[in-house]
Amino acid sequence: MDIYLNRLEEAKREIERAEYILIGGGAGLSAAAGITYGGKRFTDNFADFIEKYGFEDMYSPMFYKFKTQEEHWAHLARHIDLNRFLEPPAELYKRLFELVKDKNYFVITTNVESQFEKSGFDKERIFEVQGNYGKLQCAKGCHNKLYPDEELIKAMAAQTKDCRVPTCLVPKCPVCGGEMYPNLRKDNYFVQDEDWYAASGRYGKWLSGANPKKTVLLELGVGFNTPAIIRFPFEKMAYRGEAAKLIRINSGAPEAMRGNENNVISFDENMSDVIEWFLGSDMNEQNRNGNKADKYTA
Ligand SMILES: [Zn+2]
Repeated sequence: MDIYLNRLEEAKREIERAEYILIGGGAGLSAAAGITYGGKRFTDNFADFIEKYGFEDMYSPMFYKFKTQEEHWAHLARHIDLNRFLEPPAELYKRLFELVKDKNYFVITTNVESQFEKSGFDKERIFEVQGNYGKLQCAKGCHNKLYPDEELIKAMAAQTKDCRVPTCLVPKCPVCGGEMYPNLRKDNYFVQDEDWYAASGRYGKWLSGANPKKTVLLELGVGFNTPAIIRFPFEKMAYRGEAAKLIRINSGAPEAMRGNENNVISFDENMSDVIEWFLGSDMNEQNRNGNKADKYTA
């Protein structure tokens, strides 16, 4: 029996006997689900931006200093429309929901494209720590309110010409008159509104109500970009016995911290295959030997 199979069976047993499952979802989860920021998905949707700016993936333009707000929003609208509004619920997220729907689950995630909610997870059991593409805030955080942006994003995406939106569509802060930005944590101006604090409170309450011996932590595609949000706390909870086991699926950095190996079951294999195994589906020989074709490191 190969080692991969041992880990699969041990992790599956842990999930089956768990009453509480805490999912930690990182960028690698969405990448494994097919919401990739490079390759064909990028070139098919950003040909005009590639020609004009030479961008090589969807990630780098988020940090590019566009010369005008019209260009800046043309890019943001295309990006957000594609990744937040047009993208259907991904199969991997739906399978994940199948896995936990009858448990007392909670989700903490740094992902901002609403895939958990789209895939059936209860909104009251999701804490999106880093924000969501679906809302705007004052870029300087001058007031604590968020503004749903679907209508505006759709209008901007539809009216983009030569990589620019019409000036009349560029959003302005209704309080200070300054620039707006999607509600994403990129600097100290990130707005945490009432809903954010309510979700944070529900997360804390769920944690204190979960029986450690019957709790499994399922960490998916969480790397080292913002490890203080999910990765380090999960590792610490496992170490302290605040959970029965930490199951980590991560193609790039699956290892437990030294001294914590007995509390962590690590997988660097294909995430969908591992989740399917947990759901009880059979895998073929090739998959069982470990298919590392997918890269889903956060
Ligand atoms: Zn403002």
